[in-house]
Amino acid sequence: MTRDLSTSVQYIKSVGPKRAQAFNKIGIITVEDLLHYFPTKHLDRTTILNSAKVAQHVMNGYEGEVTIIGKVVESELIRYGKKQIFKVKMKDNAGFFECVWFQGIKFFKDIFNANDIYAVSAKPVMTRYGNLQLIHPDFDKISAVESEEFLNTGKIIPFYRISKELKSTNLGDISLRKIITTVVEEYADLISETLPQNIIVKNNLIPKKTAIKDYHFPIDNNSLEKAKQRFKYEELFFLECLVALKKVRMKIKKNGIKFNIHPEPIKSFIKNLPFQLTQAQLKVLSEIRKDMESKEPMNRLLQGDVGSGKTIVALIAMLIAVSNGYQAVLMAPTEILADQHFKNIHSLLESTDFNIALLLGGQTNKTRKTILNGIAENKINIIVGTHALLEENVEIPHMGFVVIDEQHRFGVAQRSKLIEKVISPDVLIMTATPIPRTVSMTVYGDLDVSVINEMPKNRKKITTVLRSENNLPEIFSFIKERVKNGEQAFIVYPLVEESEKIDLKDVTSEFEIIKNTYLDDTRVNLIHGRMNWQEKETIMEDFSKNKFDVLFSTTVIEVGIDIPNATIIVINEAFRFGLSQLHQLRGRVGRSDKQSFCILVTRDELIRKTKRKNFSLEYLSPAEIERYKSQIRLNAMVEHNDGFKLSEIDFKLRGPGNIFGIEQSGFPQLKHADIINDTEILIDAKNDAFNVILNDPNLSSSENQIIKRQLKKNYYTSLKFSHIA
Ligand code: ADP
Ligand code: MG
Repeated sequence: MTRDLSTSVQYIKSVGPKRAQAFNKIGIITVEDLLHYFPTKHLDRTTILNSAKVAQHVMNGYEGEVTIIGKVVESELIRYGKKQIFKVKMKDNAGFFECVWFQGIKFFKDIFNANDIYAVSAKPVMTRYGNLQLIHPDFDKISAVESEEFLNTGKIIPFYRISKELKSTNLGDISLRKIITTVVEEYADLISETLPQNIIVKNNLIPKKTAIKDYHFPIDNNSLEKAKQRFKYEELFFLECLVALKKVRMKIKKNGIKFNIHPEPIKSFIKNLPFQLTQAQLKVLSEIRKDMESKEPMNRLLQGDVGSGKTIVALIAMLIAVSNGYQAVLMAPTEILADQHFKNIHSLLESTDFNIALLLGGQTNKTRKTILNGIAENKINIIVGTHALLEENVEIPHMGFVVIDEQHRFGVAQRSKLIEKVISPDVLIMTATPIPRTVSMTVYGDLDVSVINEMPKNRKKITTVLRSENNLPEIFSFIKERVKNGEQAFIVYPLVEESEKIDLKDVTSEFEIIKNTYLDDTRVNLIHGRMNWQEKETIMEDFSKNKFDVLFSTTVIEVGIDIPNATIIVINEAFRFGLSQLHQLRGRVGRSDKQSFCILVTRDELIRKTKRKNFSLEYLSPAEIERYKSQIRLNAMVEHNDGFKLSEIDFKLRGPGNIFGIEQSGFPQLKHADIINDTEILIDAKNDAFNVILNDPNLSSSENQIIKRQLKKNYYTSLKFSHIA
């Protein structure tokens, strides 16, 4: 048989049709696929100790994890009343040791047979009887030959994930390793290079063939590291090629609008504002202005913490556009927020001739028709709305400028849907969610970034406290005191109605109780997402006009809502909310020169636990880990006011796999690189990729054919967005 990478795995020695089927189920069809099925971990000889050494370490107070390789001597099931313990006695060349299990006994019982050789890893302990013991260790089976080789030659042994399907064909660690050994020996040489030579040299990468061999069977740690490095780089390089292609396409393919800056209406508008713009706002404005004056379409991300004053910046940019005869659009994630923007802009524009309209989902047909006609006839200059703007029949013939507020609430697809409606407006995307640099280089890599890194001068730091439900009476009297001074408060709950499933406070019933008890002499009202649009509008309008003092609400008020006179936000069942959500909610206060307060209310037991620091996560159940994380979140809120700091903590709690925006971004999943920790590789890959694409946007030069081929082969769907597909 000819050796060919597209050979079916079925023909590999000791695979056959049945196992081939199991491989197919996890996406491995060909020999080439199997070559790319990499180990999830390696056992490194240098980390292995013999049992006598381990015992010595434990005596000396060592508390870390160890790995021992040993042979199973015997196993026994011990009963203690209702409880059972499964104990495996093992030995290595230095002595005996034990592994014990308290759970999953049925499963382990059939695995450890006499004379099997295992590598076991755990934190070691000494029993009362002086036996070395590993409790619930990680374990990997290795063959006698391997263990011999391993100890004598220092080979590093790979371990692969073995799916249920593979297991059911009797495939274990040892047999899979054998199959992959065969494949690597016979086929790895056929793998061709996928990166241009100059890039390989520049980044000191190893050839693809070598990388594949070394990833499976490295001679030492260094060669394993080099192999991983090569795959990380390659993955990030092609990802950044996609980003660069997207960015280039935006810039070259479409003709943007060259706006003229008429200084007069803008200047007087700024002069008439009740405050002075901050330096940061002015800097960002000049960046936006440069983009607007240029012929290339703008694609800019405006980042600024909650309350930093993004809206006014966007509005000024919109004014530039409409004073050039174009229409400007502002899309907000919720109806309440859209309505607020609409009312603000409306009053700010009172002295001008510009017309503004609000477009929402729940409007009557008649209203909607009038608005749509006005837009079509270019009588309406500024259109504010929700995703209702994306509907088919909304046509905005002179759309020249688009603002997307709180972009993290929209998917990437929605963003491009709006923009693709016309040729090429300038686009400003606003977010209060801080984005780490590595993420803005990938998910948002096609955008230019502006940052408002300064708060308006008059602001005082919001005081954030953590309180128990038992403190609620005091909290209500505190609110009453403040209300007497003319200030207002939000009281937030996680649910609208009582739920049978979850035992959490809900806004409707709590509202009924509290308005008749603690706050019976205070003007209160209620808002939640199940109300219809008119009801919500009236309530928010009344609240902003200070017609009542305390607003009970769900998280419908989470983003963007601006009631500068509100100085207290009470967040009930605060442990339920994510960190960025808590920070957004807190951002509803602290929007004036008055001292504001954020009161996080949670259950008593959670408060007591938060005081216990530094206990190990390892022995906690998933529910306990969740609780522990919510304690970290609550403490972080009390400690930090800065959104950037909080998002850092949030990223750590979520782990790299869960970074916001990546899943929705339409980019391929990363298998090798970790976007938070592989920053240096990412920066290199990005620079190289942008270099290539900016110099050769169609990838037509002969040296770039290798890149083009690779992109077409592996990233076909992502290439939809580019012009080389
Ligand atoms: P966000 O960035 O969270 O969207 P907003 O744009 O809603 O913030 O602004 C928050 C509040 O601060 C608004 O009431 C706005 O009028 C006010 N504001 C904006 N810029 C300034 C400034 N330079 N000085 C004082 N207040 C400002
Ligand atoms: Mg805002």
